[in-house]
Amino acid sequence: MRINKYIASCGIASRRKSEELILEKRVRVNGKIVEELSFNIDENNDIVEVDNKKISLANNYIYILLNKPEGYITTVKDQFNRPSVIDLLDIKDRVYPIGRLDYETSGFLLLTNDGDLTYKLTHPKHEVDKTYIAKVKGTPTQDEINNFKNGLTIEDYKTAPAKIRILKENKEKNYSLCEIKIHEGRNRQVRKMCRAINHPVLNLRRTAMGKIRLQGLEIGKYRYLTEEEISYLK
Ligand code: URA
Repeated sequence: MRINKYIASCGIASRRKSEELILEKRVRVNGKIVEELSFNIDENNDIVEVDNKKISLANNYIYILLNKPEGYITTVKDQFNRPSVIDLLDIKDRVYPIGRLDYETSGFLLLTNDGDLTYKLTHPKHEVDKTYIAKVKGTPTQDEINNFKNGLTIEDYKTAPAKIRILKENKEKNYSLCEIKIHEGRNRQVRKMCRAINHPVLNLRRTAMGKIRLQGLEIGKYRYLTEEEISYLK
């Protein structure tokens, strides 16, 4: 990575200001003052110092919790030019979502620039439960609930044991609200699981990840995670 970009990525200064720091001979790589603006560094191995202080990308990690509205994609762009969750953030750092929520799903979405945490949280073995409130067609029977809990075969895989409980039933309008907890994160998994027990999802909202909750955050708004929340996830 070019040295000025690296300094900027550490949150020390803009790329232009970083060039000034270099010209002022305030930047060292592995103990040697950098002379060229086009100097490239190996960000995994080189030690970079500004004013004799080691800098690192880790200083600049940010962690955001967004209450995603329906009708937003969680990738940066798509071929239909639909709005992206990134458009909802008023920040200068580049962040990306940890995992995905469907275009039509709302609620809890973490965004960060910390690749290690993203890797950890999106790994299939990751054990933190994600909580969803699903409005489903009809009301699951006890047998269907048991099947859901024991794991279902969907396409070519079996889902890990999951939790489901009925929060509310509306017989007249033929729907129920269910709280669902799963720790896997396969594509459209909750929707597919509900369909597999013959109760398709009418509306889906994610409300929590482990003990971190969305509560108190208006739809479309975001907040930074607290230090405690960050260490809990790591
Ligand atoms: N499961 C789904 O089906 N959709 C989501 O957006 C998240 C989990």
